[in-house]
Amino acid sequence: MCEALRQAGHRALFAGGCVRDRLLGIVPKDYDIATSARPEAVMALFPRCIPVGVAFGVIIVPRSGAAFEVTTFRQDGPYHDGRHPESVAFLTEHEDAARRDFTINALFFDPETETVIDYVGGQEDLRAGRLRAVGDAKRRFEEDYLRMLRAVRFAARFGYTIHADTLLAIQTHAHKITRTSPERICEELTKILMEGHAKAGFELLDAAGLLQYVLPEVHAMKGIEQPPEYHPEGDVFTHTLLLLEQLHEPSPTLCWGTLLHDVGKPPTQTFEDRIRFNHHARVGAEMADQIARRLHMSNEWRNQIVWLVDQHMRVADIPEMREARRKRFVRESGFPELLTLCRMDCVASHADTRIVEWIQDYIAALPPEAVRPPRLITGEDLIAWGYAPGPHFREMLDAVEDAQLEGQLCSKEEAEALVRERWAH
Ligand code: ATP
Ligand code: MG
Repeated sequence: MCEALRQAGHRALFAGGCVRDRLLGIVPKDYDIATSARPEAVMALFPRCIPVGVAFGVIIVPRSGAAFEVTTFRQDGPYHDGRHPESVAFLTEHEDAARRDFTINALFFDPETETVIDYVGGQEDLRAGRLRAVGDAKRRFEEDYLRMLRAVRFAARFGYTIHADTLLAIQTHAHKITRTSPERICEELTKILMEGHAKAGFELLDAAGLLQYVLPEVHAMKGIEQPPEYHPEGDVFTHTLLLLEQLHEPSPTLCWGTLLHDVGKPPTQTFEDRIRFNHHARVGAEMADQIARRLHMSNEWRNQIVWLVDQHMRVADIPEMREARRKRFVRESGFPELLTLCRMDCVASHADTRIVEWIQDYIAALPPEAVRPPRLITGEDLIAWGYAPGPHFREMLDAVEDAQLEGQLCSKEEAEALVRERWAH
């Protein structure tokens, strides 16, 4: 890649995340190449390329599995919507380093000489475990407020401290994060949740003053006391962080469901015989729905997250449930995530996970046909038996399935008898 560009007379360097990761001994997810070649020249050299943003000089070149993103050295013009620069000027590699967000993300590597090119002190910050904005921190965040969330994400991911000037600039500008589009905020928060250091990420979001603006409902969990006999670990925020700490290669919906499972507690807290949070799951589900809408999440994500929050207290009732109800519950498509959430919830409070093991054993012992028995009758049968079609058909079919799930019947004749007995013409 770099070789081909160089042979055509251009300068070509590895840039950004892949250089940082290499120095840290991590295999990079993707490779960015910064070059003096103009976009047209890059496209001419690599006919199979995908021009994703020619105006910004960005071209993707697919190569043996990995995709290389080739970007022309540039300097960004003023940002107006806090997202895209108004204009870009194609300039030198030095200016290209200066437009990048953090010093550790602004390193180049020249594959020809095998040397790191560092215009911003990024290697020293890497060694010191420090995240620092390139140039004047306040100005850099004013150009793009999303960088404040990126700072938290990278610091959490690598266990770095945020340099004092950079942290102060974030704290000063924190309230302006809401000027960034909800989609970008959501994407960044989801990454913070998924990258394996969610607890550190949320502690940093709070310390940087961002949490109250991006997720005020989560910020409100701070200081909400819980009954010590059920929650010796402390308040609702502490409890939630202890769950986040247990996320292991999680899906985005499990992450969000975990973060929000007790979001209904702050508004429902009452002091009766003891501290109580009546109906917090239901209230929390409504709040999760609002949050998911505010962050422009997909319907698919929103439905699963809301379901997880809504159902998380029901898991404890499973052993006492009637068989049909229990089987219908455990066969829901989101149930495995709910059970994982429930286990983390137990570990983060009383540490007794016997309920989860009971459910796992129960599910493991269930033959598939016991959870989804074959359908014995259809609407056609009901019509043939003289019933007029209508919404009660659903009830009749469900009653038959319930009886099957309870193990009370297993033939069409028995199903017909049940329907005729309960529903007179
Ligand atoms: P990751 O491992 O998460 O992909 P990365 O460093 O590769 O980390 P990307 O978001 O892929 O991050 O961006 C690639 C590079 O582009 C960064 O290293 C940084 O130099 C630059 N960059 C990305 N987003 C911004 C931004 N909002 N402002 C300034 N520079 C940015
Ligand atoms: Mg990247």
